[in-house]
Amino acid sequence: MELIYKSTRNSKETATASMAILKGLANEGGLFVPDQIPAFDVSLEELAKMDYQDVAYNVMKLMLTDFTEEELRHCINSAYDDKFDTKEIAPLVKKAGAYYLELFHGSTIAFKDMALSILPYLLTTSAKKNDVKNEIVILTATSGDTGKAALAGFADVPGTKIIVFYPKNGVSPIQEKQMVTQKGENTFVVGITGNFDDAQTGVKKMFSDVSLGEYLASKGYQFSSANSINIGRLVPQMVYYVYAYTRLVAAGDIKAGDKINVVVPTGNFGNILAAYYAKEMGLPINKFICASNENKVLFDFFASGTYDRNRDFILTTSPSMDILISSNLERLIYKIAGNDAAKNKELMKALTEKGVYTITDEMKNNLSEFYGNYANEAETSATIKKVYESDGYIMDTHTAVAATVFEKYTKETGDKTPTVIASTASPYKFTRSVMNSIDSAYDSQSDFELVDELNRISKVKIPQAIEDIRTAPVRHDTVCDKEEMLDVVKKFLGV
Ligand SMILES: *Cc1c(COP(=O)(O)O)cnc(C)c1O
Repeated sequence: MELIYKSTRNSKETATASMAILKGLANEGGLFVPDQIPAFDVSLEELAKMDYQDVAYNVMKLMLTDFTEEELRHCINSAYDDKFDTKEIAPLVKKAGAYYLELFHGSTIAFKDMALSILPYLLTTSAKKNDVKNEIVILTATSGDTGKAALAGFADVPGTKIIVFYPKNGVSPIQEKQMVTQKGENTFVVGITGNFDDAQTGVKKMFSDVSLGEYLASKGYQFSSANSINIGRLVPQMVYYVYAYTRLVAAGDIKAGDKINVVVPTGNFGNILAAYYAKEMGLPINKFICASNENKVLFDFFASGTYDRNRDFILTTSPSMDILISSNLERLIYKIAGNDAAKNKELMKALTEKGVYTITDEMKNNLSEFYGNYANEAETSATIKKVYESDGYIMDTHTAVAATVFEKYTKETGDKTPTVIASTASPYKFTRSVMNSIDSAYDSQSDFELVDELNRISKVKIPQAIEDIRTAPVRHDTVCDKEEMLDVVKKFLGV
């Protein structure tokens, strides 16, 4: 049976999975959501015997029903290969009273790789299926992490080019080095003299320029986006929750059917929503524990039923969660409103116009599986130090936000359900903040001295992603003004 996707803002707008992936965003700013989520057609015991790729196939085939087995297996096998530094792809590590699901073993050592290593294949397959003949040009504005993960995912993928704009003076030295050393003949990286908003605005302007779109089509190109609201990013993220659960079954730590909790360090609400969708598919999950940093707009929402983005934006040591508009929350809002596109649209309009909306009591009653809390900077630091001292395990700042919130949850509720914590980045990606948490004296050392010291005290091998940038030559040195972005794109494409 074919699964249909609908817009959260207009139930008459529908798409197949491949069309939804190609389009990214529905019209009127809506997001594509599955009309219903099919149940597993193999048992949890059977899934427990499969490797990551087979689990991925058995989950994704239910969500991407217009892909053939051959197409989907090709996408999965091309993505989850030796780009990952472990055959397990997403290992589950038991430490300090929880299971850490390490999602950072891909090429850019953050969890974005789990989706962005497969998205290029899903996108090019979708293009083929829908008879799109143009070459696909991915345009991305980045504040650091997404740009590098998208570059790594799309590098040398036939039929695609990728152009990334970043604020020249607005990313960390390691992030910049990671991007400007990117290999691949189809990759282009540009620093702009402006901030992230300027980059984002410039990209959006090119996307919405109809005559530019027509001109590019006449030259054989079309724009697409690797943005986190694409269902081509959400569906692959359901897989690792099923994988984690079935590893616990395989290890005999739980029996098939027992419930687990998941804790997710949250920004745009994509990762935790994927867990929620996995539950709808039949994965026994008790609580979704949503962990925020000091930008605690989601904590306030779960507590009060009011989403209010009118507040100061706080820069924290977990920058990938510094966000005040969690775009994927819209999919949950639509769901708890009883799949009511009109109601959802009204709330999203209020968010755009006033920056705030309040859900009804009835909707709030549908949120009982969620628990929200947050961790401040001092608590996050203290957790890193504490778990290092008790277990010799060093986690990154984002994961530490989750671990802190898990501790608060346990204290508050006494719940003893086995718990999986999504571990979203390697500590090597945020070396300075991590090492400063362990001992503030480290702050006087250089970035690469800290890398070597982290290696010494954690005994965890330095990831290839870090070794690469020590010596890699700079391949991209274009810098432009924000008004020149279109000229730069045209020059790269030779049009
Ligand atoms: C993107 C990101 C997050 C937040 O994930 P969402 O899906 O946006 O909620 C958390 N941690 C790290 C390291 C990230 O890169």
